[in-house]
Amino acid sequence: MKSYLILVILLIIKASTIFAADYSYSGSTGPAFWGNINETCIKGENQSPIDIPYDEFIKFNKPDNVEFYNVNNVEIENKGHSIQISKNLNAKLKIGDNEYNLLQFHFHTPSEHRINGNYHDVEAHFVFVDKEGKLSVIGVFYDVSDQQSKFFDPIVSNIPNKNEKKSIEFIELSSVLEDINLMNTTYNYFGSLTTPPCTEGVIWWVAHPVQPIGKDQYLKLRDTMGFNSRYVQVRKGFVNNNL
Ligand SMILES: [Zn+2]
Repeated sequence: MKSYLILVILLIIKASTIFAADYSYSGSTGPAFWGNINETCIKGENQSPIDIPYDEFIKFNKPDNVEFYNVNNVEIENKGHSIQISKNLNAKLKIGDNEYNLLQFHFHTPSEHRINGNYHDVEAHFVFVDKEGKLSVIGVFYDVSDQQSKFFDPIVSNIPNKNEKKSIEFIELSSVLEDINLMNTTYNYFGSLTTPPCTEGVIWWVAHPVQPIGKDQYLKLRDTMGFNSRYVQVRKGFVNNNL
């Protein structure tokens, strides 16, 4: 009887460990507790996102080469707290001798990075990986406007049900790079993934200027994902110079 009870208790502990591996944006699985999933989230010293002083966006500070091409037959997945697009993507960036290819992109409402303490309505994260698995992410801000975004149009028209996937025939991905003036003004720093496991060593390029997104487009995104923005992390002043 006693050993049966111990077994039941052990099973309960095991189950709670499994559930703890999932994360959210509030309560006991929210950002303040992500250290329970991976201690880098709480002990890391180069964590993202951060608050960026406007003056530190630097003109002509960009990867050595960056290319975005229009894409066909990509996959869109509704992951509950995020919408992610992957497969058949075609964009790359070069930092020194390292070439990074676009693995996936996804969105946050509101933005995760802030400028002078202010957030924007949406932040898109374009996640690139090199052949050794090192990551570099381009962040692009969007604010609600009268102007529709042709980039977001096929995305918000094809949002699948929660935990489901769909195919999107065409996305004008090249327009993203044109809209941010080929990344002529960016903030570049070493940071981390903004979700567990909060892995560090990520080379960030936060782009300016802020782009427009139509009101309906924004509402579709926000209503699907809800609030999915990690609070800003302590800034260590590790700007640019070490690349
Ligand atoms: Zn992200």
